[in-house]
Amino acid sequence: PKRAHGLAYHRPLLLNSRQGRKALLDWFDGVSTARNMPWRKAWINQATVADGDDAHNRRQQLERRAYEVWISEIMLQQTRVAAVIDYWNRWMERWPTIQDLAKAEPDEVLSAWRGLGYYSRATRIHEAAKIVCGDADMRGLLPSSVDELVAKVPGVGRYTAGAISAIVFGRAAPMVDGNVLRVLSRQLGLFGDVKADKAVIDVLWAAADHLVKAIARDIPGDDEDKIPNIEEEEEQPSDRPGRWGQALMELGSTVCIPKPNCAACPVTSSCRAYSEGHQLAIKKGLAPKPTTPQDAATDIEDACTLCKPFEEFADDDEDTQNSNTVEVSKQQKSKSRTQTTLQSFYFTQTSSTTTTTTTKSKRTAKSEPGGLSPAAFDAIANHARKFPLKVAKKAVREQETLVCAIRRSSDGRYLIHRRPEKGLLAGLWELPSYILTEPQSSTAKTRKRDAEQYVKDLVDAKGLGGVKYVSDLGSVPWLFSHLKLTMHVHVFELDDRKGGGGGVESGEDGEGARSRWRDVKAIDDESMGTGMRKCWALVK
Ligand code: SF4
Repeated sequence: PKRAHGLAYHRPLLLNSRQGRKALLDWFDGVSTARNMPWRKAWINQATVADGDDAHNRRQQLERRAYEVWISEIMLQQTRVAAVIDYWNRWMERWPTIQDLAKAEPDEVLSAWRGLGYYSRATRIHEAAKIVCGDADMRGLLPSSVDELVAKVPGVGRYTAGAISAIVFGRAAPMVDGNVLRVLSRQLGLFGDVKADKAVIDVLWAAADHLVKAIARDIPGDDEDKIPNIEEEEEQPSDRPGRWGQALMELGSTVCIPKPNCAACPVTSSCRAYSEGHQLAIKKGLAPKPTTPQDAATDIEDACTLCKPFEEFADDDEDTQNSNTVEVSKQQKSKSRTQTTLQSFYFTQTSSTTTTTTTKSKRTAKSEPGGLSPAAFDAIANHARKFPLKVAKKAVREQETLVCAIRRSSDGRYLIHRRPEKGLLAGLWELPSYILTEPQSSTAKTRKRDAEQYVKDLVDAKGLGGVKYVSDLGSVPWLFSHLKLTMHVHVFELDDRKGGGGGVESGEDGEGARSRWRDVKAIDDESMGTGMRKCWALVK
């Protein structure tokens, strides 16, 4: 492909730039409170913990801080910040400590999660709280290292572990969410699939790891650029790793958004995508030509095999390709993409003896000359927005269900079932539901027939009385990220007044029961998915 370059092109320029790193941290310090996130708080420096009572108080503070960050990070997965703030505040009011959460009833926890979606997250948090409080080593305090967090706390993956380790404990741990993957793919000029290509994902995580280690070693007040040697020095815990990780995430959610606002970005000078866009803007006459000579193309042996072909550059003239244009040795295209090769290549301080790169690929970030026009910034953003590679989404699966509300004549209660503890809407309550096997050919008539058969089988199996079809209340569409669900709601009346059964049978209604008869008020208070709650609103 054109836009050819060597592997060294993807070495983060911010690694060479103490000033660039400082610029991002300073920017974050100026905006960190703008979105009023209640979980963003000052770092607790454990080095200041004294003996005696003070040590006990500090440990409690640390426990609470780790708990707060953990809950916020889990809630923020798949949910917008603005929506999470109220949930987080209510959660902390209800269970201020991890010990309080560990003592909660499972239904209470699910109920507090209602509306956030992905309910298995709530179940796992609750399970994890019990484990962390019951463990003789942890005693309510989450571990500080990424490895221990991942190994000991259910539901905590390397992203959440990195966030807790860096933000709470000041460790130099990377935290890479979807927004950070986008920012880094642009900073590194890496045009790959950040969702599924493991080699691309590994390189971005490795870049984040090296960057957070570099920031952890930056000495405040020392503005000299120096290339950190991550093999030699040990980082001391500080607030810098946490601020840095949050700065990258904040940049990705407010500035380096899908169509980036590069004019407001504090790290343009280290951004490969920005630099390439700038070259295109110059070519189109939207930005002034540089006064310094451009680098000449140079042969290299270690060609990048991570980036996918980039059509925009393929159409350009040879002399207007980005300044890192290189002639690629064909034999290198099949070079191994193993992580070992990538790691050893990208992040060493000097190029290997068998590889030559252009001068600019080893450049350090410097302040960008300003004065670009809005049209030039637009051209830059239009180029940068192409990163990372867009991959067609998988088709959303479609499913239709019959939702059958069965009302008991004697007391007006409805039957509800609990969903399995694993999978979609795990552990939530629902009206009895049946998945249609051939939804494409279903009609109102066949759905009524199937609903009647399903309910008859259900009450027969429970040895209950006769059941009568009441009405069809229509359909409720509901969209999950991977599933388009249509719920057809039908109402039935169970006649249990002639002694035909219908009372609470063995195994129902007690602690741990999988099905219950509940009155309207009680069902209002049960933990239910939002789509099912809409069905219930039609019924009651
Ligand atoms: S693409 Fe633009 S906003 Fe994103 S990091 Fe680069 S310069 Fe900043």
